[in-house]
Amino acid sequence: MAAKIDIDALRDVAGSDACATADEWRAVGQPAEFVPVGGGASGVIREVGKPPIEVWVGVTADGFTAECECSPGARLCAHAVALTLLALDGGLSWSSAATPPSAVAVDPRVAELAALAQSIPVRRLALLVAEWAAADRVLESGLRAQAGQLEALTAVELAQVRRTIDDLAGGATGGQWDLHDVEKAGRAIVEEIEVLAQRPPTEEALLLVERAARAWDGLSGYLYDAWETYEEEPAEIGDALRAAHVRLCEQVQPDPDDLASRLAEIIAAAEVDSCLDEPWDYLAALGRQRVKALIRRH
Ligand SMILES: [Zn+2]
Repeated sequence: MAAKIDIDALRDVAGSDACATADEWRAVGQPAEFVPVGGGASGVIREVGKPPIEVWVGVTADGFTAECECSPGARLCAHAVALTLLALDGGLSWSSAATPPSAVAVDPRVAELAALAQSIPVRRLALLVAEWAAADRVLESGLRAQAGQLEALTAVELAQVRRTIDDLAGGATGGQWDLHDVEKAGRAIVEEIEVLAQRPPTEEALLLVERAARAWDGLSGYLYDAWETYEEEPAEIGDALRAAHVRLCEQVQPDPDDLASRLAEIIAAAEVDSCLDEPWDYLAALGRQRVKALIRRH
């Protein structure tokens, strides 16, 4: 169900000070962009000389909800108003049952480490992250994405990633090969996709992830056959590809009928199991009826 936003009512709740500040930010193009998250929108407001502030807005069972770094309470702050204005301009389709970031289950270990990270002086933390990112492509692109440095993939870059995935998949079982080569190729494909997934989301990127999933579906059978040695690996690789695909689906919001028919085709084409064959993971992108239809096709 899509929700409608009454911006005038929201402005009344936020108050004139917050609205004036929000309008000033919008006039200078802040936040620069919004990302659909959990059925609502997320964005970052950057002001010169101040730390960036992340905010989320959406319509939950409790009505219009904002979660902002600036205030732990559920106050409707200027950040929330500015993001709402941008998301309305951008034509976000607001879910009427959105999930705010605070309701998303965080791995307890991640939560513990996040609390630990918050206790470190910012400069030390920055250096630590930089050292890791310098040694890890996925972390590096995640860092650049958070800083707003990454642009959508160009046609040339898309072709490059496509070729890399095809080469990895083709090379895994070419010439003299053993099962370890298949696992290595799978992990390399995941790395390509996780780097790609940090770029601003596009329909082309989504199709590329689907190509990678098909490629892995064509390889994973070798490892599933050798389940005594490769008990966890094939599912780990497949789950990582599906997680990237599900996330991208939410961001790109492809036509649900097109997505459903592509998924049905990918699942049917898999020799063993398709790594995308978890229809309920696609509930937000497909809606309940299409998920059920996908399950019935089996
Ligand atoms: Zn705020």
